[in-house]
Amino acid sequence: MNLMQLWNKFCGRHADEAFDPRRDLLKLRRHRPETCEVEPGLYHYLREADGTNTRFHLRVDSNGFGVLLANATAAARLRSSGVLIAKALLDGEDDAAIIARLQKTFHGVSAQRASEDIERVRSILRELASPGDNYPILNLVDPSFGPDAAPLKKPLSADVPLAAPEILVPILDRLWEQGIPHVTLIAPGGFERSALVRAIERAEDLGMIAGVRAQGSDLAEEAFVAELAAAGVDHVNLLYLSCHADVHDAVIRQGDHAAVMRAFDSVRDNEVCVVAEVGLIEPTLDTLEETIEALRAADVTNIAFFALATATPDREPGALAGEQLLQTARMVEESADAMGVRHLWYPPRQRAAGVPLAEQVRQGPRTSGDHAIRVEGDGSVFAARGPWRSIGNLLNDSWETMAASEVYEAYRRRVQTDTHCDECPGLAICAADCPRTPLGWAIPPSG
Ligand code: SF4
Repeated sequence: MNLMQLWNKFCGRHADEAFDPRRDLLKLRRHRPETCEVEPGLYHYLREADGTNTRFHLRVDSNGFGVLLANATAAARLRSSGVLIAKALLDGEDDAAIIARLQKTFHGVSAQRASEDIERVRSILRELASPGDNYPILNLVDPSFGPDAAPLKKPLSADVPLAAPEILVPILDRLWEQGIPHVTLIAPGGFERSALVRAIERAEDLGMIAGVRAQGSDLAEEAFVAELAAAGVDHVNLLYLSCHADVHDAVIRQGDHAAVMRAFDSVRDNEVCVVAEVGLIEPTLDTLEETIEALRAADVTNIAFFALATATPDREPGALAGEQLLQTARMVEESADAMGVRHLWYPPRQRAAGVPLAEQVRQGPRTSGDHAIRVEGDGSVFAARGPWRSIGNLLNDSWETMAASEVYEAYRRRVQTDTHCDECPGLAICAADCPRTPLGWAIPPSG
């Protein structure tokens, strides 16, 4: 490492930034405690408690803040002192040593305050290890992040279309290298089974959390689900549009409803987290409340919703206009709360011109939430919302370069701004962006 690289590392200055010693010194004074104690990177631990294994990922970002993930089920964001404590506890250090390190790193911390902080992080680790039920990674909007949570420096996960190993393996390796610990593989109808098994095995070898999004017909065979479980799959998301088989089958394919019900059982029997992905379009609205109830009765308690939205409902029948989407979201949130199921919002997709409605529903959401990015087979990366414009190439660009792109900056500005207004009730769907405006949707390539 040369002198300039050493300076950059200490100041948290990216190599692309212009050299400005005065600003760097100011940065150094402000950030030194956050940057020097725990080296930025991804740390992976397997811990056993009460006969259950929990896989922890601690990601430390270059600003010293961190994210702690447990299995595919829960996440907590940590400030720099929390990062130091969490890593020390996971490394098995004793309290006295941790208190000494906290006092050395953070000026003016009393032993009592340090002990209290250690207890707090210890209880976070306990809670994450036993979240009570299966729950895929939290949305940015989840209130448990708290209003003063540290901003996420990087996405937590990536949605990646299934491809041959020679395409997917470098992408998975690079995600891990960039500190993104979770992948959701998007398996199209009739996919190549061996490619999916190979991709999951690779993710497992790296230590990643691996999920699959698929149609029921492709996962209806119990032996194949068992093969995926043995390969290390952590969650399976299945498209489910309605508890009425005719409504579901009309969009997905004939016989898929029965297949998806069998797949729910096989996934659960193999102790893998199951998620129902419900597409919101006009044909599914009449049976929506009944559908949530039926999923609850079938013991599927994680439901992710994604809408196809349109600003021109007269020209695009079947997709939801902004106001209709808001009313639907209100109904979903009230029903899910009343029935005790977890609901996750995936960013709405704008209706794509020239693509049949059913085909676009089968394609699913662009990403599984605002903590995710989309990565295509050629390595191009897309933000969770906004225009279909690549922010860079995962295989060639660093995350810092992609995050500095104009498109990603515009995305981040929108999701970090509070979009709630006085007239509307605070719905969870509004926390990341306004569902009524196309600016908050994922725009398709043709949009
Ligand atoms: S984001 Fe604000 S304006 Fe948009 S629907 Fe929600 S509360 Fe209303």
